[in-house]
Amino acid sequence: MNIILFGPPGAGKGTQADIIVKNFKLIKISTGDLLREEMEQKTDLGLKIKSRMDQGKLIADDIITDLITKIISEKKSVEDIIFDGYPRNLNQAKILDTLIKKYNQRISCVLSLDVDKETLKKRILGRIICTNCGMTFNKYFNPPNEKTHDCGANYLKLRSDDTENTINSRIEIYTNQTLPILEYYEDKKILHKIDATGEIDKIYEEIRGIITSLET
Ligand code: AMP
Repeated sequence: MNIILFGPPGAGKGTQADIIVKNFKLIKISTGDLLREEMEQKTDLGLKIKSRMDQGKLIADDIITDLITKIISEKKSVEDIIFDGYPRNLNQAKILDTLIKKYNQRISCVLSLDVDKETLKKRILGRIICTNCGMTFNKYFNPPNEKTHDCGANYLKLRSDDTENTINSRIEIYTNQTLPILEYYEDKKILHKIDATGEIDKIYEEIRGIITSLET
């Protein structure tokens, strides 16, 4: 089963992906995490993309395709993946279809997390990520503690693109370039819309129900 977690920045894709991975045999592939790792390690690619990442602009499709192709080709099979933050435009959605078709696989469902703009802003400004394990927390809604996170406080960082300045442009890019993909998946009848304004556990329960129904 391959799943796409879809939604605007701050919708809780990373948080829900972490919970899903703990409960189902799925592997998370987050293009945002892969790109941040490149920046963290100051690779040539990391240095090249830093300015666009900090402005919240999308990174070129060929760079993203190279990252995804590399990670997929390292796996023995392309199944049981949860894609977080990918695809981000129609071109990427079509490329993903072609890539997974090569492995006789398909996308089982697209879970689209719906959140209003004000909530998105609060979530983005409170977001904390662990640079060691990649888990996502929020200093207001979901602060890390000994039970939920054991890498230590030194790894906890704010994201360089989570600023008041970039929020509006990131939401605008989402609306103009990413949101139109929903129609593509709606036509394929694999789209599930989820109200993701509420509490993390309740949103997960709805997601769990959908994934479980796909398993049977
Ligand atoms: P995310 O962690 O998904 O919020 O992504 C953070 C940033 O990484 C985005 O604002 C983009 O600059 C870049 N990015 C992540 N995934 C993609 C993608 N699939 N296509 C283009 N840029 C991406």
